[in-house]
Amino acid sequence: MQTIYWDLKNNERDKFMDQAALCIKDGQVVAFPTETVYGLGADGLNGAAVAKIFAAKGRPADNPLILHIADKKEFDRLAVDLSANARALIDTFMPGPLTLIVKKSSLIPDEVTTGLPTVGIRMPSHPVAAELIRRSGCPIAAPSANLSGKPSPTNAHDVAEDMDGRIAGILDGGRCGIGVESTIVDTTTPIPTILRPGGVTREMLEHRLGAVDIDPALYGVQAVRPKAPGMKYRHYAPKAPMYLYEGPAAAAQLIKAVHAAMQAGHRVGVLCDQVTAAQLPENANRCVIASWGLSKDDLAEHLYNLLRAFDHQEPEFILGLGVDEHGLGLATMNRMRKAAGFNILWATEDGVSVKSGTNFPGNMVK
Ligand code: AMP
Ligand code: MG
Repeated sequence: MQTIYWDLKNNERDKFMDQAALCIKDGQVVAFPTETVYGLGADGLNGAAVAKIFAAKGRPADNPLILHIADKKEFDRLAVDLSANARALIDTFMPGPLTLIVKKSSLIPDEVTTGLPTVGIRMPSHPVAAELIRRSGCPIAAPSANLSGKPSPTNAHDVAEDMDGRIAGILDGGRCGIGVESTIVDTTTPIPTILRPGGVTREMLEHRLGAVDIDPALYGVQAVRPKAPGMKYRHYAPKAPMYLYEGPAAAAQLIKAVHAAMQAGHRVGVLCDQVTAAQLPENANRCVIASWGLSKDDLAEHLYNLLRAFDHQEPEFILGLGVDEHGLGLATMNRMRKAAGFNILWATEDGVSVKSGTNFPGNMVK
C-alpha cells in the first residue's frame, strides 16, 4: 500500500484534511496528531475498518481501542448509565488528555472493545484531531500509531518509521505537546480508578472527585492483572535492556555506574535530565547520552523520542534516571518502569540494591 503523506504546514491544508476524512469515511486507516501522541484512526462504528488498525499495528486481539469524539454529546449515544463521577470528569477535563471507561452502548462494534461490555472514550483537544473527527462524521477508534511493543510516536517521522506502507495516510501536524498517552480512568467502579496515568494527573482528579484509586498492577506486582488489558504488555521498550535508578542518591549512583561500565569496555546508554548529563564523561563512542531537559513536562514530551533514538545508536544497555511521582511524574515513571521491564535499582549514598527485576549486568548492585 502507498501511504499518502499530508504535511499540514503546506498551504493545501484544507484539501489534505478533506482527503484524510474521506479515507476514514471509506473505511481506511489514517494516522493523525493529538495532544498526547499520534493516533492510528479508523471509523469507530465500522468493525471491518477497526480490524485494519489491529492488522497495521500487529496489536494483540484482546487489547481494546479508545473512541475519539469531537463533541461531549456523543457520550449520550456511545455510553449507557454514565455515573455522576463520569459527568464531573467530562465537564472538567474534556477536551483533554483523559479517557473514561464507561458502559458501552449497542452502537459500538465488538472490534473496538474486543468483546468487553465497557468502552474507553476521549475527546482530544488537538485542533487537527478534533477537525478530522468532525469532518469524518463518526467517532474515530484510535490506539497509538506505533507497531505494537514500540514506544508511541510523538511526531510524524516516527509514525512513518513504523507505518509506511501499512496505512492509507499520515497527517503531519508537528510534534505532540504532552508526549505521553491519556490518563485512563474507570468510572464504572464506585471509586474511580486510574488504569493508566497520563496528562491529567492523579492530583487533578483527586481535587475534582475526592478519593481516586490506582490499579495496583501499575506498580508491576506480578500477581495482579491490570484492568486495562493493554497495560500487561511490555510496551514502550527500546531494543537494548534498560535499568532504572530510583531513590535519594539515584543520580550520583547512576553517574558512578556509567564510569564503571565504560571502564569495563561497555558502550552504555544514559537517559537522564540535563543537570545529570552535564556531569557525565564526554565520550560519544562509549557513552550515548539522551537527556530530556530539566522539568517533568520536558521528560514527558521527549521520553518516547529519546527511547526510540537509542534503537539507532545501539548501546549495549541503558541506565535511566527515575523522577518523583508527583504530577506528570506518575505517568512518566510508569512508562520508564515498563521500558525497563521493571528492572529497578534503589540508590542511596551507601550503595545500590535491587528494588525489582533480575539479570543486572556486572557489579551494578553493591
Ligand atoms: P493505546 O490507545 O494504544 O494507548 O491503548 C489504549 C489503552 O486503553 C490500552 O491499554 C487498552 O487496554 C485500554 N482500554 C481500552 N478500552 C478499555 C476498556 N474498555 N477497559 C479497560 N481498558 C481499556
Ligand atoms: Mg499504545
